[in-house]
Amino acid sequence: MATDIKMVEGPASYDGPGFQATSFDKLIGLARANSLWPLPFATSCCGIEFMSTMASHYDLARFGSERPSFSPRQADMLLVAGTIAKKMGPIVKQVYLQMAEPRWVIAIGACATSGGIFDTYSVLQGIDRIIPVDVYVPGCPPRPEQILEGVMQVQELAKNESLRRRNTDEYTKLLNSYNIQ
Ligand code: SF4
Repeated sequence: MATDIKMVEGPASYDGPGFQATSFDKLIGLARANSLWPLPFATSCCGIEFMSTMASHYDLARFGSERPSFSPRQADMLLVAGTIAKKMGPIVKQVYLQMAEPRWVIAIGACATSGGIFDTYSVLQGIDRIIPVDVYVPGCPPRPEQILEGVMQVQELAKNESLRRRNTDEYTKLLNSYNIQ
């Protein structure tokens, strides 16, 4: 029967009659990349774009991310969408800290990325001042397609990340630079 459903491509492997061999890293990466659970930290206009990304037209479910989690412990992709006031910074950081490894962060829109048009004393000039960011989505606001592109970039990171990366000195140094132990 003809169908439009596309399957996710499998990892690079050695195939033969009755067998397929690949590395554990690639297998785990494939599973992680296609089951990212988002935690939307939406504070303003960009949050509306994220709602549209979740809805039927753009359908984030196609990427295995249809289950937004408002519990950090059950999420592995933090999406910060909107203006983050300096007073709110510690809350964003607390949410990040409560997420288990491996975790990824997307800064959605100009405000989360750099403070955007709000170059003022009260607005955080980018969330990377308080937590490490993996992907930046530009725009004010970015379109849902751009947010999807950001999620796909995180998928690529998850797919290709070594299982040991989170235990490396480099990663520890990165966290330490944010005063995260
Ligand atoms: S980047 Fe633009 S659209 Fe997004 S939260 Fe800031 S002001 Fe609103």
